[in-house]
Amino acid sequence: MKPGKVSLVGAGPGDPGLLTVRGRALLRSADVVVHDRLIDARLLDEASPDALLIAAGKRPGAHPMAQQRINETLIRHARRGLDVVRLKGGDPFVFGRGGEEAEALARADIPFEVVPGVSSAIAGPAYAGIPVTHRDLASSFAVVTASEAADRRDERVRWQALAHAVDTLVVLMGVARLPDIVARLSAAGRGAETPVAIVARATTESQQVVTGTLRDIVARAREASVAAPAVIVIGEVATLSARLAWAPAGLSTAAALAI
Ligand code: SAH
Repeated sequence: MKPGKVSLVGAGPGDPGLLTVRGRALLRSADVVVHDRLIDARLLDEASPDALLIAAGKRPGAHPMAQQRINETLIRHARRGLDVVRLKGGDPFVFGRGGEEAEALARADIPFEVVPGVSSAIAGPAYAGIPVTHRDLASSFAVVTASEAADRRDERVRWQALAHAVDTLVVLMGVARLPDIVARLSAAGRGAETPVAIVARATTESQQVVTGTLRDIVARAREASVAAPAVIVIGEVATLSARLAWAPAGLSTAAALAI
């Protein structure tokens, strides 16, 4: 039997309006949708009522579906001749293990397509009014993960080098390690007054923005009870949030509602 095709589709960071046109077309025609658990339900409503929906990936407090099993699920359904959409948060090739899924598909000789998505690394800051580059403030940016264990000696992110090599640092999966990140960048010589912004649940109705500097961001994040998922933006551009925040401000809305 001719295998179906697997499409690795970026769902965008949260706001369902940030799914691409190509992604939506594939979602509508898919026989099987294997989606990250955090995907907005409004996106899944785009799938055909006949489509089989399978939740994969991390769920707080529960064991994630192992990557190996996700790969096998994609391959199994494609081998039955079904078209499969693998719907992943943000962009499928930015820290989403989409690369590994594509490798597994290539090994299994399953035809596949990659539909890039709007990554939280760029859209998160943008929804908080922060351009990751700016003619006067930043000519470069890097996107790094902070999820690797703090005590790993072979840590792959080179904080010391990054502290000086790029103007804007965007850190994903970093909330739990914020104190450690701040310590490393400070030790590497990034000034205590370097602006920092944290955008939690970016692009969703409950978006929360916390700003500060390397000196005080840990305390501010604690006060605001910032939790994952969040994007940390470090660099001069973070100051622009004060002037350019355009999205309904989650933090002030939440604060206003609490009154
Ligand atoms: N492929 C995704 C990233 C997956 S890693 C992308 O391109 O966006 C998961 C991390 O992405 C989270 O720990 C968080 O740092 C970030 N993230 C994803 N969605 C987010 C959101 N709505 N708001 C803030 N950060 C988000």
